[in-house]
Amino acid sequence: MKAHDGMYIDGAWRSAAGRDVIEVVNPADEQVIATVPAGTAEDVAAAVRAARAALPGWAATAPAERAARLAALRDVLAARKDEIAETVTAELGSPLAFSQAVHAAVPIAVAGSYAELAATYAFEEKVGNSTVFHEPVGVVGAITPWNYPLHQIVAKVAPALAAGCTVVLKPAEDTPLTAQLFAEAADEAGVPAGVLNLVTGLGPVAGQALAEHPDVDLVSFTGSTAVGRRIGATAGAAVKRVALELGGKSANVILPSADLAKAVNVGVANVMSNSGQTCSAWTRMLVHRDRYDEAVELAAAAAAKYADRIGPLVNAKQHERVRGYIDQGVAEGARLAAGGARPPRERGYFVSPTVLADVTPAMTVAQEEIFGPVLSILPYDDEDDALRIANGTVYGLAGAVWAGEEAEAVAFARRMDTGQVDINGGRFNPLAPFGGYKQSGVGRELGRHGLAEYLQTKSLQF
Ligand code: NAD
Repeated sequence: MKAHDGMYIDGAWRSAAGRDVIEVVNPADEQVIATVPAGTAEDVAAAVRAARAALPGWAATAPAERAARLAALRDVLAARKDEIAETVTAELGSPLAFSQAVHAAVPIAVAGSYAELAATYAFEEKVGNSTVFHEPVGVVGAITPWNYPLHQIVAKVAPALAAGCTVVLKPAEDTPLTAQLFAEAADEAGVPAGVLNLVTGLGPVAGQALAEHPDVDLVSFTGSTAVGRRIGATAGAAVKRVALELGGKSANVILPSADLAKAVNVGVANVMSNSGQTCSAWTRMLVHRDRYDEAVELAAAAAAKYADRIGPLVNAKQHERVRGYIDQGVAEGARLAAGGARPPRERGYFVSPTVLADVTPAMTVAQEEIFGPVLSILPYDDEDDALRIANGTVYGLAGAVWAGEEAEAVAFARRMDTGQVDINGGRFNPLAPFGGYKQSGVGRELGRHGLAEYLQTKSLQF
């Protein structure tokens, strides 16, 4: 796709207020592939004005009409799925097959789910002698990361639109082309002018301006805990709604009764997927001490298979950061069972699939989100020990439990302080609520829980 040199505001591509641009780099070969405008507070203000002006009309549309627009959006995205996959591959570096199967396919499914929910959700209900109305919160500021560029956008914009909110989107600076393609798709789908607005730009400039704008009613943010904490504080000071999807350090708990080889292989695949740039990745594998060596061997062999299959990391900063974590792990006493910090290629921000063994719960690599293809394997002595380790980080986003019997895994999962757990592998469900316990965030995305984030309730008594 060709990059736009303007912002999508009030239904048209308009010149940016300033002249600065952001270079979009293909992380697989470090080549600049496009430039997009670096928006300023002025662009954000124009976009928020457009969203505010469009709000009364959009909020008053019948849910069936909003459902029809979302269905049209899903259809446009589906018709352009190859272009989506190519664009994500160009700016994120993920292998094309993965871009097709995940980066394009998942958001199409999520857009479709909100077309259905908009049509069927009970926006009005009876509670005793009251009628309760679920009304749109208002103007939404959506700030998204680069790791699943289109999914992160659709997971916010689709429910917001289904609820009757209008949106100003500030996508990650690394992946703005996918965001521009999304704005084109919304336009093509007949989403009315001002209902979706796009401002590309840097986080501390355009992102911060959006988060601090007094006329934004709700800020929905996905990204780092550091920025999320700040956005939460800003929202708190203004008493406005906020949804935060932050980091994770999820545990993959393999109980003694589990099929070890299967659990390890699926666990490694989960961590290597998207080069480890997944907030819900099961980055800590917990294995009973009796089978620990066997698990490390299996994991190292499984990881080696991904050497030529994973893409690079998104940018030079992440490349350095992830390699720094690997070095730090080794310096703190972990053993390299596979991979390592040395870049496997001369060009591109690649990191080898890495397995760290002999990791203890207190090590930095067992506590902090690495966001790269790095798996830490920790031994445990008994179930209580496994639970202590699993729950022993500030995060609580996702996780996995494996056991011979499903009921055994479920019993363990119920004791985990985390928002989503896959039982014996699980299967992605675009309708299941996704979000964090503890410092992994506030609020839920996807399905009806995701829609509820964008609604406020009013009751009338009779
Ligand atoms: P980030 O938090 O800096 O960026 C996420 C989004 O926030 C981007 O759109 C960015 O432009 C914007 N942003 C940055 N500073 C802002 C500010 N002051 N005000 C408002 N918006 C701002 O994340 P990053 O630097 O791209 O990645 C760093 C780390 O964050 C990763 O290593 C990973 O640990 C974590 N991360 C988590 C997720 C997730 O899905 N939970 C996604 C991406 C990154």
